[in-house]
Amino acid sequence: MQIRTKIAIQFTIIIAFILMIFSLAVYYTSENFRKKEFYNRLHDRGILTAQLLKELKVTEKDKKKLRDANKTILSKLNVEKVLMFNDKDELVYASYEAESFLYSPAFLKQVRQNKYVETSDWDNQLTGSVYTDENNKSYVVIAEATDIYGKEKLQNIRNTLITSFIIGITLTIILGIIFAGQSLKPITEINKEITNITAYNLKQKLTVGDNKDEIAQLANNFNQMLERLETSFELQKSFVSNASHELRTPLAAIKSEIQIALENERTNSEYKSTLKSLLTDTQRLIQLTNGLLQLAKSENRENSMAMKPTRIDELLFKAQEEVQSLNNDYKVTVDFDEIPDDDEWVTVNGNETLLLTVFTNLIDNACKYSPEHQADVKIRFNQKQCIVAVKDNGIGIPESELSKIFEPFYRTQNASTYRGHGIGLSVCRRIVDMHQGKIEAQSEEGKGSMFEVTLPHL
Ligand code: ADP
Repeated sequence: MQIRTKIAIQFTIIIAFILMIFSLAVYYTSENFRKKEFYNRLHDRGILTAQLLKELKVTEKDKKKLRDANKTILSKLNVEKVLMFNDKDELVYASYEAESFLYSPAFLKQVRQNKYVETSDWDNQLTGSVYTDENNKSYVVIAEATDIYGKEKLQNIRNTLITSFIIGITLTIILGIIFAGQSLKPITEINKEITNITAYNLKQKLTVGDNKDEIAQLANNFNQMLERLETSFELQKSFVSNASHELRTPLAAIKSEIQIALENERTNSEYKSTLKSLLTDTQRLIQLTNGLLQLAKSENRENSMAMKPTRIDELLFKAQEEVQSLNNDYKVTVDFDEIPDDDEWVTVNGNETLLLTVFTNLIDNACKYSPEHQADVKIRFNQKQCIVAVKDNGIGIPESELSKIFEPFYRTQNASTYRGHGIGLSVCRRIVDMHQGKIEAQSEEGKGSMFEVTLPHL
């Protein structure tokens, strides 16, 4: 079902409910008022007849006259019957001639007890009152009639309410559909525009307009999402082209070395040296593919990453050992700024393998980019975080390039003569992000660099 129809239906149901309650309230209040008013009139009529009878000291002939008067005048008021009974339940006056009267002694007794009784059936209303004359004789006066005018008025009110209800609901449905359609029009337009946006024209944006309403916000947010998607697509594209470029370079070197070696007959030692050089190139290739693999893994790990409490100092000693075992001339020191009182201050909830990758990368870089191949690692902590600083006195990073070194494949100008592919730091940043931490670099070209990893501890 279209939202427009849904809104119109909901709107109509609410209005119908309100109108219904309102109409019922009007109808029942009018009915109660009518009934009450008619009871009062009946009562007055009964008492008035009794008073007249007493004052006129009527004979049977007068009673007949009064009856006739009642018939002509009172019938206009729809008073059909006025009856008077004495204390022996004998009928002393009836406004009409009839053989039998339907008032039981029990009813007359009830009137005497309560002094005043009102009752009604479908058509008629009846009041029974006690009238006492100056001789202390008490009578029961019963007045019964149908409120024809009142009922007609009520019927009128009911018809008016029903007609207004039907007209009101019809108008609500029509206006509801029109207004809902108008309010949702921008969404229909946005929908049309969205269908035209594909993976190949992410640059196309939705028209936001001048409004500041929710729909404009939606269009704005959608546009921002498109921008993020575009950036991410661009990154992926440049990643693929960078990765293939990086892979092609060592492969091209390997190919030309083999071609040169095959061009002429070579001595055994020449073949050996070619094979050695091929081995170095292949090792570089393996390193590169490992880096790419790490990057891909770090992209996918977020949900499946196994986290457990991991001691940072132990990880750093492992990283130190790993880096030094691969490069005999690398010197790495690992130190605490101050010894922690509590083990939890240097324990983070994290993935051991991934965090080890971060620290080996940072220590390896510090040694690689400094002439003495020296890295100094310091651990410190505060109430919430454990901070690891990896410092070197190496070539440093030019200030203008400091913000770019965490991008995949980015290498600074002054690092071009060093081995590497510019993947390590982007992997580090991704892993640290996954641990809700941060990684920052400070550096001065020619003097050295310091990389700081901040992670929340237990
Ligand atoms: P790689 O070292 O393989 O090139 P990284 O992603 O680890 O890749 O580093 C990216 C770039 O950041 C490096 O190419 C280098 O230019 C710069 N860099 C990283 N660490 C250091 C450091 N300790 N000293 C100087 N430059 C660094």
